[in-house]
Amino acid sequence: MTGVMIVTGGSRGIGAATARLAARRGYAVCVNYQGNAEAAESVVRDIAEAGGRAFALQADVAVEAEVLRLFDSVDRELGPVTALVNNAGLTGHFSRLDEADPEVLRRVVEVNLLGVLWCCRAAVRRMSTRHGGKGGGIVNLSSAAASLGSANTYVWYAATKGAVDSLTLGLARELAREGVRVNAVSPGYVDTEIHAASGLPDRIEKDAHILPIGRAATAEEIAGPILWLLSEEAAYTTGAILRVSGGR
Ligand code: NAP
Repeated sequence: MTGVMIVTGGSRGIGAATARLAARRGYAVCVNYQGNAEAAESVVRDIAEAGGRAFALQADVAVEAEVLRLFDSVDRELGPVTALVNNAGLTGHFSRLDEADPEVLRRVVEVNLLGVLWCCRAAVRRMSTRHGGKGGGIVNLSSAAASLGSANTYVWYAATKGAVDSLTLGLARELAREGVRVNAVSPGYVDTEIHAASGLPDRIEKDAHILPIGRAATAEEIAGPILWLLSEEAAYTTGAILRVSGGR
């Protein structure tokens, strides 16, 4: 076994592709999800049919108690986590900031930022040599939005991803001598359901022409770089924010 991985939001999109690839590379995987049990179970089924090991676990990453329950369950089912992919995220419905629903703003910050903090905290307490752990790796899903700002679409989402970049850099430095590497992957446009959920179902097709590479990424094209950052080949890579955006 390569290690034990938790993928938050592993039921769909980038998280599901990451969970499937990780299992093929020998990880035992916890497929976390928030509400879509069917999608999570289908990822687990695919992994099991390919001879891998995985289980699905519902937990809202925005709620600290649920994150603690998630990590405790993984301790019991698979052993202590060695790789964490902080992938769960949402944008909220698109609009200008002055027209946005305050509850949407609160929710996006709680999931995209607090959720990553809760998960990193629980992971560090298991991975860091300072806590008797054997080391590990964390990859956070940021976004090209962090540097582009997402004007007229979801500036609050972009702001949470900017915060994820800062967290990645700071935590990487905090843990650099404790056996834990922390990196981020920053996708541009990826063909997942996140766009329909934000009220922009045609975004991928409509905006393809503004992307230097001429098309959106597949979820699998993001999963590959995530797995590389967690691999031994990236042993000297920490605090990196790897833009995987087709040139955007
Ligand atoms: P997606 O297809 O909408 O899937 C979102 C996943 O996150 C689902 O598995 C969902 O679970 C889970 N989730 C949402 N809120 C959660 C919560 N509170 N607790 C636990 N799980 C939760 O999204 P995606 O496009 O794959 O995006 C994945 C990550 O990449 C996000 O952080 C996103 O910001 C980032 N990203 C995406 C793009 C893009 O173009 N797609 C670009 C840049 C960055 P359920 O299935 O249970 O709902």
